[in-house]
Amino acid sequence: MCRMMELLFIFCCLVFHSFLAIADELKQEIVLLAGASKEKITPTIETFSDINENGKYDLKEPFTDLNNNGSWDPVWLGGNQNGRFALGVHDDLWAKTLILESNQTSLILISLDLIGFLFDEVNSIQTAISEKWGIPAEQIFIASTHNHSGPDAIGLWGESGSGKNSETLSFVKAQILKSVETAIQNKKKAKIVWGKTEYSNPIQDARPPTILNDLLLSFRVEDEQGLTLATIVNYSMHAEVLNEKNRLVTADYPGTLTEKLEKHFGGVALFFAGDVGGMQTPKVFFHTFYICKKIGESLAKEVILSLKQGKSVPIETLRVKQETLLLPIENPKFLEAMEKGIFGSTKNLLKESDGKLFIPADIGFIQIGPAQFVTVPGELFPELGQVLRNEMKLEYKFLIGLCNNEIGYIVPEEDWNPNGYEESMSLGQKTGTMIISSLLKLIKN
Ligand SMILES: [Zn+2]
Repeated sequence: MCRMMELLFIFCCLVFHSFLAIADELKQEIVLLAGASKEKITPTIETFSDINENGKYDLKEPFTDLNNNGSWDPVWLGGNQNGRFALGVHDDLWAKTLILESNQTSLILISLDLIGFLFDEVNSIQTAISEKWGIPAEQIFIASTHNHSGPDAIGLWGESGSGKNSETLSFVKAQILKSVETAIQNKKKAKIVWGKTEYSNPIQDARPPTILNDLLLSFRVEDEQGLTLATIVNYSMHAEVLNEKNRLVTADYPGTLTEKLEKHFGGVALFFAGDVGGMQTPKVFFHTFYICKKIGESLAKEVILSLKQGKSVPIETLRVKQETLLLPIENPKFLEAMEKGIFGSTKNLLKESDGKLFIPADIGFIQIGPAQFVTVPGELFPELGQVLRNEMKLEYKFLIGLCNNEIGYIVPEEDWNPNGYEESMSLGQKTGTMIISSLLKLIKN
């Protein structure tokens, strides 16, 4: 009997052990495929001879008619003051794509060196990707670096009226799709190394109280041989080292930062702005290309260091959720601009209820192994970013701002100042609360 018990015990142990092995296997690494690519979105600049030296183009002044349409086509720079046309190109702008895939789930992250990219444009890209490659729209995220020295992709910075150039926008869209196509074609088995550090040196908070998010998060996607496919960086600072005096197209500090990372690691480096609102801006006295380069280089150095010390954790989960919210437009300035057609076909996507107009905007929640990501459709105040990070329980807490729309600043309701600058560039007082409560639900479920 004793021997029987012993045998039974051994048998139970074996069964238990193999059960654990199966459970372990279930929890084990998923097969992760990854691909990355980038395409230039630098606009073509038509120059002219300013014969009367008034700093403006006047009829009959000779110009380079690059598209042969018989007229001078300015590229209005988005950000800062109106009517700032580009005189040339300092460095290129890019559309960069990362695709991750496991079983039935795909995740497409696209970074654009633009001031913002509105819902109608995002929608048309999502639809094109879904139709061509069968990837659901809610697994596609398109974010802007909030670059203040690129073409006006929103429509707010023309000399009078919209600064959007339809030719430039069509080119941008075509290049995004091209980068997605190459990224899909390049997919291979991959693993991820995670990096995390804090780096407050270049940032200042231009709006009291001083609440900064100085997290510098990154991850490096590598193939089975250890070659880098992509490096992703998430940092919360306005891309405006170059200010209103600059007249050359540049990707600002994210340009230098990603260029350095690509040189160091290889592959494609993508930058995603975080909670840049309220008001995380570069702490610089001189808004020059030299300073811009220094900031980009110092950030690259920090990222390289944190990724060298970073961990490669087996990826057990890839989860992607996205939800479209309808946010009321309370700001009369926005309604007026919408009426004037400044925001383009966004107007056709508005919903009306009880005499109020609502604009669609996406929020998202992503989990890749030990990292959680939230996405917000504008410039979130770090105060609100912290509320989200407090609920994100995993080690790496990414926040992608200006994603799938740019609705302007997202201000904490209790901090609302009717005369504030950020408020004047915001949908309304309730926007922040609505976005945060919906995101908290997404995080918790
Ligand atoms: Zn901004």
